[in-house]
Amino acid sequence: MRVQSRSWLAVACALASCATSPEHVPTGVAEPGEPSLPPIESRSGDEISVAGQLFHTGTRVVLWDEPGAYDAYAQELRFPDEPGDPKSKPKGARHGIRKGLPDDVATQIADRGWSLAELRDQVDQFVVHYDVCGTSRQCFKILHDRRGLSVHFMLDVDGTIYQTLDLKERAWHGTKANDRSVGVEIAHIGAYPKPEHRVLVEWYDRNETDLPAGKGPRVRFPKWMKTTGVRTADFVARPARPALIEGVVQGQRLYQFDFTDEQYEALAHLVATLHEALPRIALDAPREPDGSVVSKVLDEDRFDAFEGVLGHFHVQKNKTDPGPAFDWERVLTRARELSARTRDRTD
Ligand SMILES: [Zn+2]
Repeated sequence: MRVQSRSWLAVACALASCATSPEHVPTGVAEPGEPSLPPIESRSGDEISVAGQLFHTGTRVVLWDEPGAYDAYAQELRFPDEPGDPKSKPKGARHGIRKGLPDDVATQIADRGWSLAELRDQVDQFVVHYDVCGTSRQCFKILHDRRGLSVHFMLDVDGTIYQTLDLKERAWHGTKANDRSVGVEIAHIGAYPKPEHRVLVEWYDRNETDLPAGKGPRVRFPKWMKTTGVRTADFVARPARPALIEGVVQGQRLYQFDFTDEQYEALAHLVATLHEALPRIALDAPREPDGSVVSKVLDEDRFDAFEGVLGHFHVQKNKTDPGPAFDWERVLTRARELSARTRDRTD
C-alpha cells in the first residue's frame, strides 16, 4: 500500500506537477553565494527578502536561514535520509541569473549583484502554482531534491510562507516567465477531471459528519507521509468553501476543492507586499472583455505585455494550475485593501 501510494505520487508529480524542467531554461552561471540576511533575532518573522532588502508582509514568512526552513541555495539534498530515490538530482545549483538585460548591465550585476531599482525594472509578473504535493515539505522534496527545480515561495496549508531564495534569483518554475517573474507553489493536491477521482477521495474526508459551518471536508494526508512538516501544531486543513468546485481551465472541465482560508489570507499579504517591493507587479490578473479572469493560456503578445498576477495556466498551455477553485477575486481584492492601508501609513 505504501509503495503504491509513493509511486502514485511520483507519477502525479512527474505528470501534473506545475514546475517546469530546466531544459526550458538557458543554463547560465548561478550567482555565487547568497545574500546575507540580518540575524534572525533582529527580524520580526514576517519579512521577505528582495535584492537583499527586507519588506514586512504582516504574515508569517520563514526565510531560508531559519531552523526548519527550505533553502534553495543549498546544493545538497534537503531530505537525504528519507527512503532512497534513484531519481534525486545530484548536487548543483537550482537557480540562475535573470536574463534579458543589456549586456553591460548584466556584466555589472554578475559582479556586484542586483540593486533593488534594477530588480524593479526587471520583474513584473507573479506566477501562482499549486504543488500537487499537498504540503510545502513534500513540495520541496519533490521540486528541489528530486526534480532539481526551484521556486521563490511555498505557501503551506496553515498559511505559513517559506521563502527559499531572494527574489533577485531566477527560479525555475515557469519557463518563459522565469526571467521576469516571482513564483509561489501553494500546497494543494490539485484539480482532476472527475468529481470522484481517487485522489480527491483519498485526500478529502467527504464522509465527515461534524463539518464546521461554511468549510469543506478535512484534508487527510496519506499515511505514507509520516511527517507533514506543517508548523502550526495540530492544524486541520479545510477548503475555504464547502463544495467541490467545478470549472473549466484550458478548455478542460476540472474538479477541485478550495484552498484554505489561511492560504488566501497569507497569499493576499504576499501579493500586496510584492506590489510594494516590485511595483510593476500590478494587483490584477488577465481579464476577458466581460471582466472575468482569463481561464486559458495567453497568446504571446498578451503574455509579453502583461504585468501582474498570473496562474501557471496563463503562461503554458500544458498547465492547469492553480485550477478552477482558485479564488482570484478574493486574493486580489484583499491584496488591494492591504496595499491601500500600507500607502495610507506611508503617505
Ligand atoms: Zn505550476
